[in-house]
Amino acid sequence: MTHVDARPVSLDLSGRRVLVVGLGRSGRAAALLARSEGAVVTCTDLRSDVATVEGCAMVLGGHRREDFLAADLVIVSPGVPATQPDLAAAAATGVPILGELAFAAERITAPVVAVTGTNGKSTVTHFTGLLLEAAGRRCFVGGNLGRPLSEAVLGSTAWDVVVVEVSSYQMEWPGTFAPAAACILNLTPDHLARHGTMEAYAAAKVRVFERMGPGGLAVLPAGDARLARCAQGTGGRRAWIGDLPGVRLDGDLVRLDLGQGTVHDVPLAGLSVPGRHNAWNAGVAALLAHGMGVAPGALDLGVLHALPHRMEPVVVVGGVAWINDSKATNVASAVTGLAGLDAPLVVLLGGDGKEGEDYARLAPALARARAVICFGRTGPVIARALEGLPLHTVGPMADAVALARRLARPGDAVVLSPACASFDEFRSFENRGDVFRALAREAT
Ligand code: ADP
Repeated sequence: MTHVDARPVSLDLSGRRVLVVGLGRSGRAAALLARSEGAVVTCTDLRSDVATVEGCAMVLGGHRREDFLAADLVIVSPGVPATQPDLAAAAATGVPILGELAFAAERITAPVVAVTGTNGKSTVTHFTGLLLEAAGRRCFVGGNLGRPLSEAVLGSTAWDVVVVEVSSYQMEWPGTFAPAAACILNLTPDHLARHGTMEAYAAAKVRVFERMGPGGLAVLPAGDARLARCAQGTGGRRAWIGDLPGVRLDGDLVRLDLGQGTVHDVPLAGLSVPGRHNAWNAGVAALLAHGMGVAPGALDLGVLHALPHRMEPVVVVGGVAWINDSKATNVASAVTGLAGLDAPLVVLLGGDGKEGEDYARLAPALARARAVICFGRTGPVIARALEGLPLHTVGPMADAVALARRLARPGDAVVLSPACASFDEFRSFENRGDVFRALAREAT
């Protein structure tokens, strides 16, 4: 992987040729931003059904190699793999290439907090933003979650602090991205189709620390030897999730230690979001907010609330609680979510499974299940891996909901915890969760 040098490469764009690759929300925002700085912008996407970006030339339905080679700067959307041949050709001839996040970050003077990892990114990003806002900071929350970082620059707000969820894809072209604090929450097999090996996946994640100054706060999970090894030699001072300096959960206390000689305790009692993993997520958010200068006494975990589709309570019908965890798109997140629930469970598993997933790892989390209903394209694969459990295999998710309604008894929880992506049946995990919510609420 080629890295650009330490100078920001994109700051003087007047009259420069900028190519934006991929026209989702972040690509469009980056194109407008480059345009607003006087660049001559071309936008390109493999799709042809893409709306024009005002003031930009559009090359749709495919890419033109010459646009890549003639560009002064290429800005890449997270959906575009680094192995894309035109990008690789541009990189080989020395054309500067930045991910959308890195491009926007070069324009941000406020300190940036970056959150990455396999699971829990959106929750910790959201929690950190809530804690900083409650402490009176004007805080932009976005990145992979919701608003692209380019939108933080396009608006007129002077942010005190910026919190971004960073996917490993965004770190493929990191430029000079140097957050004031960054955190890798965890690393489990996911996105291996794109990254190839766990080693490559870890290497992509630790890039978030690479250019941090010595004062930066670099947070890693304690006990992950591969990540610790990959992070050796990167910037920032280390803090740990599960050890000090860093954050630990001791009974009802969150212990925070920035490595400056003082340990602060914040009570967990006010936290209303369920699940032990969310106590950890809250603890990490508290550490990051504290790292941004919020006094521990001003950290009130009672202000935190869950995002939709993450262990979201939907409705209680006839004594049965329906819970939407549609965002559990891999085995690790499903296991974590299910482990936080006490009631007897009817679990809905399935959808569009990722290559290399080991569904047998779900078995311990399903030990107390009244029923395990496997649905969608990967349903039969999951059922084969879970032999011995009270299994049912059905077709689409609606059939799984109908069967769950028949099987659940008062006091049970019916949980959509799919451990798979949604694309066999739905546009997105949000769309799947919305449909599940509507079906769950339908009168019986
Ligand atoms: P991401 O943005 O990384 O996909 P989310 O915050 O949206 O993560 O949470 C996705 C799912 O991951 C949740 O529904 C939950 O089941 C699981 N999860 C949340 N936090 C953690 C964590 N700290 N460790 C492991 N799994 C988690």
